Order: sequence, then C-alpha cells, then structure tokens
Amino acid sequence: MTLKHGFKAQSERTASKFRGELGLAASDALDPRVLAEHLGVAVVDAGSLIAVEELEELERIQAYSFSAATFDISARKIIVVSPLRSRGRQNSDIAHELSHVILDHDLSEVRELAGMPFRTCKPEEEEEATALGGALLLPRDLLMSAARRNATIEQIADQYLVTSEMARYRYNTTGVAKQVSRTR
Ligand SMILES: [Zn+2]
Repeated sequence: MTLKHGFKAQSERTASKFRGELGLAASDALDPRVLAEHLGVAVVDAGSLIAVEELEELERIQAYSFSAATFDISARKIIVVSPLRSRGRQNSDIAHELSHVILDHDLSEVRELAGMPFRTCKPEEEEEATALGGALLLPRDLLMSAARRNATIEQIADQYLVTSEMARYRYNTTGVAKQVSRTR
C-alpha cells in the first residue's frame, strides 16, 4: 500500500500549521494531548471507563488488540487510550487517532472484539493516519536538526517522548537518514 502522491509533503505542512497554532518551534516536542485539547477532542483513559483488569484480560486474549480508539459521541470526538501502553506508545496512538479526525475519516465502521466496539478504517486511511501522526510528533525539520546534532534513534525517542519504533520509522521514511549520510 502506498500513500497518495503528495500526501507526505501535505502531512509536513499540516504538522507545521498545527505547531504554529500551538506556538511551538520546529524542534519542540508536540504533546498530542495538548493538540487534542486545541482541536476540541477529549482524551480519556480507558481505565476510567472499564476496570483495568478487563483491559488486562483483553490483552491476554489478544495482545495489542486495543491501544486507542476514537468515538463520536453527541458530535464530540473522544479518544479512548489504553493505560497499559507506555507514554511513548500512547503519544503515537493519540497522534494517530487525532490524524483520523484531522483528515475527516469516516468513523462509522465498527467491529466488535471481546464484546467491545472498535472502529476500523479503510487500510489506506490507516496508513494516512499513521503517516500524519508521525509527522505531527516528529516533523522532518525536527528530525533534521536532531540528525545534525548526531542524536541517535533512542535519544530522539527519549527527548520527544515517542517509541523508538516511531523514531526509526520517521527517520527512515522522511529521507533524513539519507540526507544526513550524504552531507557527512
Ligand atoms: Zn487508525
């Protein structure tokens, strides 16, 4: 599956626009919970809706089946996040879910897993939300400046509170890795 032509560049512009609205410099960390508030989207810990033991049981049945989901309740978007995930993973999940909202993806498809409803999007929309979510957390300019400081993937993940998987994915898919190795 490949993204629509121009989608990556558009994601960088969208990320830059929201960073501007939040008063963030290109190299600042973006807290997706702050962006959610800015967009009028509520972020709710799943542990406040159902017992954490039930979430743990669901995790035993199918690991990583639930990390985050967006619900449309009385015209209000609500992102429910699993408390079982690390801070970095939660940030990726919230940024991904916010991207569905920003891109105006259809929230109507719901599937059930262990009695809990989950929204699923079309595969191309999943890919778009992952791409935009990554751009929001780690825009290309931020990665370039980190690369110029010789920051490692782990250092980028620590500094910007994202998972190392996210840092690596962005580092490799934005062309930053290539550009840095060329100029060194
Ligand atoms: Zn999604």
